[in-house]
Amino acid sequence: MLGIQNHRLTGPDVSFRQTPNVGGALKPRFVLLHYTAGRNLESSVESLCTKKPQGNASAHLVLGRDGRIVQLAAFNAVTWHAGASQWGGFDGLNHHAIGIEMDNAGLLHLEGERYVSWFGKTCPADEVHVAEHRHGGGPRPWHGFTEAQIGRALELCELLVAHYGLEDVLGHEDVARGRKVDPGPAFPLAAVRSRALGRGADVMPRLLVNASSLNIRSGPGAEHPKVAPALRRGAELVLLEPRDRWSRVAVVGATDLEGWVCNDFVVRLPATRAGAGAPPLSRSQRALVPAPRQRAATTTATLRPARKSTAKEARA
Ligand SMILES: [Zn+2]
Repeated sequence: MLGIQNHRLTGPDVSFRQTPNVGGALKPRFVLLHYTAGRNLESSVESLCTKKPQGNASAHLVLGRDGRIVQLAAFNAVTWHAGASQWGGFDGLNHHAIGIEMDNAGLLHLEGERYVSWFGKTCPADEVHVAEHRHGGGPRPWHGFTEAQIGRALELCELLVAHYGLEDVLGHEDVARGRKVDPGPAFPLAAVRSRALGRGADVMPRLLVNASSLNIRSGPGAEHPKVAPALRRGAELVLLEPRDRWSRVAVVGATDLEGWVCNDFVVRLPATRAGAGAPPLSRSQRALVPAPRQRAATTTATLRPARKSTAKEARA
């Protein structure tokens, strides 16, 4: 079992190697997940512990495909993993986030019938995950994460959130939109985030789409671009960040789709226990996380009267 002592991770298959690439003091608010786009755990650790003329990079943790973890800096020191980035009114997430790099080759490309990484290595077919990124771009091949990695990433996020009282679990793609795509669609970010933030909280609210069609957007307002085709009536959502007029939600289903919807066109389902509110995981991922507790109730009673709306109206 993993623990934290004096800002250092403790537990099985955890080692420490100090990187010289560190800044000042860090009081973490977020955990930020990345993929390395590297060859293996050792090469990524080496790279993140090296000073380079073209710019230094680092992270707090590097997570191997077999679940091994190498810590490169104490959690109360700034590391350099986020670059130009913004989230929730904060600029430059290096100064606010613990960075976790996961060993993964990233986006692949086809050469003949082989899926190949940018560094020329053929990826075994059973490690290829073809999916569209939630920022768009059509279906593309991504290097999959291992079950050991996803399980350890979840354990790490739960521990860090609980220990430091973190506000959110984010991907580099969330905070450097348009510039970064990691950890990408092969990683179940919405599910890991929901479960990590569910820490002992009593409820993980769910919403139902209550309009014939409802747009899901990249930000809280009709001026933000749509992130996916409109949601249909009855689609189920996990409420991630409620705001006055709009809410950030994850769509329950096979994909890792998240975005903002207008509150006028959703209704709240009865509260469920923490752990039951996350979108379903794939079969291989399901084995790694605790089984959801029984739903407290399965009725569809709403907390406020349903409002009849036209499709046009709902395209907020
Ligand atoms: Zn990254």
